[in-house]
Amino acid sequence: MTVSGIFLRDDTVLDYAYIVAFSLFILGLMMLTTPGTARRGNKVAAVGMAIAIADTLLRHGIHRWGLIILGLAIGTAIGIPAARNVKMTAMPQMVALFNGVGGGAVALISWAEYRHFGNSLGSKHLIPTLFAAIVGSISFWGSNIAFGKLQELLPGRPIMLPGRLQTVLNATLLTAAVVMSVIIATGTHSGLMFFLILVAAAILGNAIVLPIGGADMPVVISLLNAFTGLSAAAAGIALDNIAMIVAGMLVGASGSILTNLMAEAMNRSIPAIVAGGFGGGGAAIAAAEGAEERTARSTTADDVAIQLSYANRVVIVPGYGMAVAQAQHAVRELTKLLEKQGVDVAYAIHPVAGRMPGHMNVLLAEADVPYDQLKEMDDINPQFSQIDVALVIGANDVTNPAARDVPDSPIYGMPILDVDKAHSVIVLKRSMNTGFAGIDNPLFYKENTSMLFGDAKESIQHVTEEVKAL
Ligand code: NDP
Repeated sequence: MTVSGIFLRDDTVLDYAYIVAFSLFILGLMMLTTPGTARRGNKVAAVGMAIAIADTLLRHGIHRWGLIILGLAIGTAIGIPAARNVKMTAMPQMVALFNGVGGGAVALISWAEYRHFGNSLGSKHLIPTLFAAIVGSISFWGSNIAFGKLQELLPGRPIMLPGRLQTVLNATLLTAAVVMSVIIATGTHSGLMFFLILVAAAILGNAIVLPIGGADMPVVISLLNAFTGLSAAAAGIALDNIAMIVAGMLVGASGSILTNLMAEAMNRSIPAIVAGGFGGGGAAIAAAEGAEERTARSTTADDVAIQLSYANRVVIVPGYGMAVAQAQHAVRELTKLLEKQGVDVAYAIHPVAGRMPGHMNVLLAEADVPYDQLKEMDDINPQFSQIDVALVIGANDVTNPAARDVPDSPIYGMPILDVDKAHSVIVLKRSMNTGFAGIDNPLFYKENTSMLFGDAKESIQHVTEEVKAL
């Protein structure tokens, strides 16, 4: 062996390299907390992961490098184009797929370990192996269903067994997986039983996510992400691999915090989300009935241009429709024009506007909107009464005053942007259709609200032309 070969296999050097890798993971996560450093944070964490992978391979003196290189090549060939080509609006399902792969890998590692070492693993390693197998398998299958729902390969509505059958099925599967795990952990060696544990967890993963409506899917993905992290940490304990334990715990902890934040921002409890049923057709039908007697006032691009040009303060409220229309660059062009005319422009960012946390920040950063113009909900809400025009671009649920004023509303209690308090509200959307929650929005019928119907990007481009023509 060469001197450098000995150096690279030195356990102390490899241990220090792991510490460098963890530090980069943590630094990367910290940098993800603000839009200004988020991209660099991602790269920093990726370097940490590259060090962790290289370290792990060197540490264990791999004999079949061909297989490792083949795996890395396949992963890279699929991962890079997939990540480059995915649309921002399809990001949640992309995350679901990547997360599922992580859970699946953990379940397979556990299975391979058990096949290899059987009960000679000893309970210190056997119990985490069984835990990783169950949770990893649930996460893999659950993530696949979440992907299918968001990609519209499966119906977005809740799919569940009638009455209490669903709960009975889920409880039976979980009990079966746990009982079989206890039998193995207490000394019975059975490859077949281990396989049956994976199958029970697989059916459970499907059975948990199928009843959950499409609207709650991003929260579910975040929850499954936390599951994958925990299962990876357990697999790390089973394999005596500190890198896996630390990375798994970071994913588990950040996934749990994110799940909580999203649930809070939507005023939904996590047990209520997992119980399923939200985001189906019922609320939408109720909304349509309620909407019958009221009328919304439609406006034109030239009227909007006049209102914006003569305003002192304008707040842009972006939502999912802006992402669908890819209107962020057009919006930036319009706001630059208004700023040149002396209008004070800010952007109001709701924590769950769009379809994933930070969705609007990412889009607006892409269009080079200065970060200091992005105002968080709690900062901008007290100011709406002094705002001349609130320009709502493809946002719906996050501006719905029913969440504040109507106790019967399914979204009652969800924090919203108080756009209705602005002197004038202009809503850009294509129709009177509901948003993701499937409920009517009383904002559209208020006296100070007018609707500019059409695709958000086209509407903004028309308004920009009119502003230029004034
Ligand atoms: P909504 O889904 O409530 O509304 C989006 C609106 O955009 C629709 O009413 C639609 O109306 C309009 N729209 C769609 N396409 C276009 C287009 N091309 N041009 C113009 N308008 C368009 O979005 P919000 O951002 O207000 O709210 C997000 C919702 O997603 C909330 O219910 C939130 O709870 C949920 N959610 C968000 C998560 C997150 O992390 N961000 C996670 C989970 C759920 P029309 O069809 O008439 O054009």
